[in-house]
Amino acid sequence: MNGYDYLIVGAGLFGGVFAREAADKGKKVLVIDKRPRIGGNCASEMRDGIDVHLYGAHIFHTDYEDVWEYVNRFSRFNNFVNSPIASYRGKLYNLPFNMNTFYALWGVRTPEEAESKLDEQRAAYRHITEPKNLEEKALTLCGRDIFETLIKGYTEKQWGRDARELPPFIISRLPFRLAFDNNYFTDRYQGIPEDGYAALFERLFNGIEVKRNSDFFADREAFCGVADKIIFTGRVDEYFDFKLGALEYRSLSFETETLKCENYQGVAVVNYTDFAPPYTRVIEHKHFRPAAKSPVTVVTKEYPAEFRGHNPLPVPCVLCLDALSPTPESRIPNPEPRAPISNNEPYYVINDARNNALYAEYKKLADAEKEKGVVFGGRLAEYRYYDMDDVILSALTAVKKELY
Ligand code: FAD
Ligand code: UDP
Repeated sequence: MNGYDYLIVGAGLFGGVFAREAADKGKKVLVIDKRPRIGGNCASEMRDGIDVHLYGAHIFHTDYEDVWEYVNRFSRFNNFVNSPIASYRGKLYNLPFNMNTFYALWGVRTPEEAESKLDEQRAAYRHITEPKNLEEKALTLCGRDIFETLIKGYTEKQWGRDARELPPFIISRLPFRLAFDNNYFTDRYQGIPEDGYAALFERLFNGIEVKRNSDFFADREAFCGVADKIIFTGRVDEYFDFKLGALEYRSLSFETETLKCENYQGVAVVNYTDFAPPYTRVIEHKHFRPAAKSPVTVVTKEYPAEFRGHNPLPVPCVLCLDALSPTPESRIPNPEPRAPISNNEPYYVINDARNNALYAEYKKLADAEKEKGVVFGGRLAEYRYYDMDDVILSALTAVKKELY
């Protein structure tokens, strides 16, 4: 018999929800995380009364009633509505694509005028019945003007590849509507924790033993020995020593500064959709919680970056036996050499055909590992893009399978 019922690798949202539920069911739980704080990518830190989102802007939104009730157990949420602005060559546009955007682009004033302008813009691409890549998908959806102004630069900076080399599904997440409505999300519930994400996670992990700065792989054997079962939320390819090849990820660098001004950009998120600035987004954190006043402001620039991986040697992919990185000519040269060095975290999975196929092979290994009492969960272990609400739902489902 080991000391703990569960070792949970990762103090992010998946690990936190699982730990909370297991502990409430009377299980003895140990959580470890290689980072110095809890919360995973949703982690935040209070600076000058401003809750600073340390790993990119995190806006909670969901359509799931039960998930909304669940998070409200750990925090009250304010009525923040995400209404980002796009900046293209000095001109500002509303996002998501809506009547305000169409008015700024073309001067159209009614849905009928907008529809007819959109039809005209799409006309040249009617022959594309099954878009093969992101560029084709964008052109068939909204035509050349919107693609060039609001999609191409942002997307190619974000993913480091030409839009013709990216899968179409990436932009199916972008809302598009014929109404004067700047609300980015369509979900019923949306908001930011009233006293910040850090406080929410303190309550989620209340009474649970957490070892920070502890990397599972630094002492794998010892960690495996402490508990009967393991909930693993780290990288699935790393768990298996990259033996089938390394999965690809996209990384980010964050450049954060405190400015001696009360209001820098007047909105929480500005997307930079042209190529000139190397960053994609500028976040002004205080706008997430307007009720909290501060005489200064904290601003973060978000720079997309190549994920270099933790294994220094390129591992051949088991499926194709070549290096997994995109070909050099498919990379967009970084237009700004002063961009900060990436902290080399795997932020975004790259769900293209090759990575999905490789992950399917790792999934077989992960499924077999269940017999040894290891459960894989969360965005790194399941190699998929999860919003916060989806990851909570997935953790609650895993809890039901395990504990009920
Ligand atoms: P993570 O948060 O990544 O947690 C995994 C944890 O495991 C990390 O703390 C990591 O340090 C730890 N770990 C990994 N390997 C090891 C190891 N070997 N040993 C010990 N610990 C380890 N979602 C939304 O709903 N709204 C948003 O606005 C939003 N914005 C986002 C913006 C960005 C830039 C990013 C990257 C994501 C965003 N998301 C957003 C998604 C959200 O961050 C995820 O849904 C959520 O964080 C996933 O939780 P997780 O527990 O699966 O993973
Ligand atoms: N996107 C874009 N222009 C924008 C914002 C997003 O073209 O101003 C594209 C881009 O390809 C991005 C995708 O839409 O990867 C999804 O964006 P979203 O903001 O939903 O995702 P996030 O990066 O916040 O996870």
